[in-house]
Amino acid sequence: MPKTVVKFGGSNLKCKEDIGRVIQVVKNYEQPVVIVVSAFYGVTNYLIESLEKARHDEQIASKTISYLFNLKKETLELHIQDKDLIKSILSEIRVLLDELGKFLQGIALTGDASPGLEDHVLSYGERISAIFLNGILNNEGIDSKVAFPESIGLITDGEFGSASIDFVRSTTNVREALAGELVYVVPGFYGLSSDGKTTLLGRGGSDYSAAAIARCIGAPSLDIWKDVNGFLSADPKIVENPVQIQKLTYNEAAELAYFGAKILHPRTVEPLSDPHIPIRIFNIYGVLDVQKPLSVVSAEKIVSKGIVKSVTYSEDFGILKLKGSGVGAKPGILAKVTTALHLAGINISSVLTSQISINILISKKDLSMAYAVVSAIDLPVVGRLHITENIAVIAAVGNGIAENFGVAARIFTSLAKDQINVLMSCSGASPIVSYILVGINDRTQAVKAIHREFFETIPA
Ligand code: ASP
Ligand code: MG
Repeated sequence: MPKTVVKFGGSNLKCKEDIGRVIQVVKNYEQPVVIVVSAFYGVTNYLIESLEKARHDEQIASKTISYLFNLKKETLELHIQDKDLIKSILSEIRVLLDELGKFLQGIALTGDASPGLEDHVLSYGERISAIFLNGILNNEGIDSKVAFPESIGLITDGEFGSASIDFVRSTTNVREALAGELVYVVPGFYGLSSDGKTTLLGRGGSDYSAAAIARCIGAPSLDIWKDVNGFLSADPKIVENPVQIQKLTYNEAAELAYFGAKILHPRTVEPLSDPHIPIRIFNIYGVLDVQKPLSVVSAEKIVSKGIVKSVTYSEDFGILKLKGSGVGAKPGILAKVTTALHLAGINISSVLTSQISINILISKKDLSMAYAVVSAIDLPVVGRLHITENIAVIAAVGNGIAENFGVAARIFTSLAKDQINVLMSCSGASPIVSYILVGINDRTQAVKAIHREFFETIPA
């Protein structure tokens, strides 16, 4: 029987109490599992800062390694009585940190870092947490071992910063390396290019690592332990009593993640939907019973009574607007613009066009670069190029949106009741999503209004 893949995030390793819960969960599985772990809370951001500062500060290397060394020393000492075990875990961490220090020193000497070196430096957060967690498990008598992506043959397509797993090359390696009776602890967030270079899987990518490993080994499920209650009908920070979503399809989960739900990395479902491996989501601060997930993402399609299952939002999108009296009628404009954006490595999230304007939705972080890239193209019919940042995208997601009348009408009516102006809207791009753009100041009220309409109003 293949092992279950269990993912713990950085927020599951914040304090001593959290670690006690992680240990309990691993014991509750009652059989060996493969654990995928991300960096301790905040460590990847800390490494990104160190990397930037290292370009012009020689002291950063030593500051970084002493900070990271001390970060979990205290927790280890609190948790483990056996002094020799503490020493051996710390010395393994020390070896990694010495390597990291050398890379940072190299960056300080040359004032530069290649994309490959950047990826390698940022992977240390996960490497350290894997050693740490493995040590803690060993102390509990759990027979476990760290399995680094380089030693299990987790191969990517080699794209630095946002690689994809190459399943043709990885599956047999990973399956064979993770077989047997041990618990394995795999650092998430990276794989290796076919020529052996560390390649990151994108920010938040250890969910995707865990999904890829689950696919390689044919796991019965991917179990993700979070510090929140799984998928909900809306963000509990905005809506008072959101409804728990017990069952979602892969597509619903992917669209919710795409439109801002923080619960899963948007790529997590990709490796799992074909082999039909379910994703089970648990809250580490709730019930630790491994048979009682809060949300299950699978192929099972359920159309809920109100059609909409969840209302989510994202502030990550901005608009690049191309205006000109005939942009909608002139062929070739989008071809030129999208090619230029592609060559600049900028991802397009959506395109909405009319006769006089083309609106391209892209991540806010890429907006000014996109503006520069598109300004440089010869586009005679475009009179004005413009970027808009102060928007939020609100999406209603649920199976059945495309097949049932009235969903968009209810969304618009609920917004109109609260006097919220809709800047743009789109239904039908995906059969399970209807989304609108509003001003950023209307974001909270818009989520509340749509949620109220679908979840809090009893139909007459
Ligand atoms: N540590 C990485 C990040 O912060 C990956 C992850 O947390 O999933 O992006
Ligand atoms: Mg994370």
